[in-house]
Amino acid sequence: MARKNRDDIESWHVEPEPTICPMCERVIPDDQQDAHHLVPKSKGGKKTVCLHRVCHNQIHAIFTDAQLAKKFSTIEAILEDEAVQKFVAWIKSKPPGFSDSAKESRQGSFSGRGRKQ
Ligand SMILES: [Zn+2]
Ligand SMILES: [Zn+2]
Repeated sequence: MARKNRDDIESWHVEPEPTICPMCERVIPDDQQDAHHLVPKSKGGKKTVCLHRVCHNQIHAIFTDAQLAKKFSTIEAILEDEAVQKFVAWIKSKPPGFSDSAKESRQGSFSGRGRKQ
């Protein structure tokens, strides 16, 4: 019974390729894509990779621009660092949409009321 029009399906059902984060190897939601300069811009770098915003922030929390330019200008080198490996193990346990900023925007609805009158 089931008719399979494979060619048909493929021609209209074109989904954009999901962007995978090379740090944690999870899909990056559109609103969390961040470009990281493998060699910092300040050091003349042009090549970028797309990362989660959280993963990107973590790279810059661990390494200085000088370290990135000198030693950690590839994802492979970055992933060899122990601090990065710990972060990646932790972030992999989080849902794909997880971001650090979530906790700021959600809570606090109980505060900020009745302060000024
Ligand atoms: Zn990531
Ligand atoms: Zn960066």
